Amino acid sequence: MRPVHPPAPGPLLIATDFDGTLFAEFEDPPVPPAFEETLAALQARGARWVINTGRDLPGLLEALARARLRVQPDYLVLVERELYRHDGVRYVPLEDWNRRCAETHAALFARVQPDVPRLTAWVNARFSAMVYADAWSPFCLVAGRAEDAEAICRHLEAYCREVPGLTVVRNDVYARFSHVDFSKGTALAELTRRAGLTAESVFAAGDHLNDLPMLRRTVARWLVCPANAVPEVQEQVRREGGEVSQLRHGHAVVAALRRFLE
Ligand SMILES: [Mg+2]
Repeated sequence: MRPVHPPAPGPLLIATDFDGTLFAEFEDPPVPPAFEETLAALQARGARWVINTGRDLPGLLEALARARLRVQPDYLVLVERELYRHDGVRYVPLEDWNRRCAETHAALFARVQPDVPRLTAWVNARFSAMVYADAWSPFCLVAGRAEDAEAICRHLEAYCREVPGLTVVRNDVYARFSHVDFSKGTALAELTRRAGLTAESVFAAGDHLNDLPMLRRTVARWLVCPANAVPEVQEQVRREGGEVSQLRHGHAVVAALRRFLE
């Protein structure tokens, strides 16, 4: 008997970081057109696309509009921790996870708040960097150079060891405090669980330090990073049995996804 409709090989959940992994600000167009065709073909086969980013909703939607993509993510992970689902019209928050996330962070940051002036003074005495608070962290950093961000984060990591659950999430010159239970990794694992899938059906691609929690075989069977990924990401992807592409940005993602269509 001839097999009818064998299950399509490849991932059912495709998670991509945005900046540097898919979107290259200085390229025109910033997302390779081949990504749209490839992703649309995979979506037609039942795969779902997640953008897993440190951006907030307005920041991501603005970049997506500028990229004029014809494909649409089914899910978003925003600020490396909040979950949204496209309901056919707009992105709606996944309330229970987001509420738990907000409550956990509120409790953690109440513990951190009294130390913020001391940490800020330490940074200002040594570096030309901006420290501020926003809706997601009482301590956010924009350093002048990546080397400065690295040195500052070493100091912050020493502080984090005094506060259970606290971690510093860094992406290039940006950093902020976060709870270790809510990361790009745990957020993607939650979407996987909600979809009734396991890591065996998940693809993940990222390029920077904030992507490390999702670039693990326990989260995704298929791991890819572009050639422009920072050395720590390349090392981890290699160690986890994933692929370090020779291609940069979205071209790396396209090449990896195309193999599932062949
Ligand atoms: Mg990135």
